[in-house]
Amino acid sequence: MAQKQHSVRLFIDADLTKDGGVVLDKSQTHYVGTVMRQEAGDSIILFNGRDGEWLGHIQEVKKSHALVHSTEQLRPQTSGPDIQLLFAPVKKTQNAMIVQKATELGVSQIIPVQTLRTNSDKIRKDKMLLQVIEAAEQSERLSIPEITDPLKLNAALDQLEEDRILIFCHERLAEGAALVVLEKLTEHKKFAVLIGPEGGFSDDERTKILSCDQAHAISLGPRILRAETAVISALSLLQSVCGDWK
Ligand code: SAH
Repeated sequence: MAQKQHSVRLFIDADLTKDGGVVLDKSQTHYVGTVMRQEAGDSIILFNGRDGEWLGHIQEVKKSHALVHSTEQLRPQTSGPDIQLLFAPVKKTQNAMIVQKATELGVSQIIPVQTLRTNSDKIRKDKMLLQVIEAAEQSERLSIPEITDPLKLNAALDQLEEDRILIFCHERLAEGAALVVLEKLTEHKKFAVLIGPEGGFSDDERTKILSCDQAHAISLGPRILRAETAVISALSLLQSVCGDWK
């Protein structure tokens, strides 16, 4: 059945080569065998962020591991858009939504940023990694975004290369409609999108952000959006105007 053949897409660590053997770990094996009911002879899709996308044939499914034979490269590795997401962590479920949606929308790096009013300093990087992997598998990405350790706002601004455009989502901006600003930036290749915490940025923080040469403030309309809505809106606009939706 064609539908069953490709119902599983897995991100793995191992190299992928023609006629290579891949061993799935216990949790991947549980997902493949028990959740998705795949068995020896079925086909799955594999990617590792380096070697493109491969067709794999399941050879055996045991309790603790499964063996997959990689047979054919389906897509070569390509690099996606270069977009950092700088976001001030909010509550757990909203953070999960932010990393999931940012992955689906094509970011290459996720940088949690500590601001004066950041709601939570506790970032579970391990949980975030599982969330981005699941979103990358589902959205047919060829790589997963890198998740960095949290940075203080100043450090997050300092790490921006000179040629990286900082899209500052400013909730109290009178002018600066997102489309108008972005349409002037279409020649650029490297972007960062900065979204603040539930409490917004302090005045000092805004001044500091706007003093960066790379910063371009955008408004996402007259209403105040929750952080996760702002992430989705800003990334969709950026991808449409300057990214790989063009
Ligand atoms: N409590 C704050 C709002 C914070 S919303 C206040 O009342 O000012 C969380 C973040 O989402 C903001 O820091 C901003 O980066 C982004 N955001 C929300 N609404 C926005 C808008 N209309 N335009 C641009 N950015 C927005």
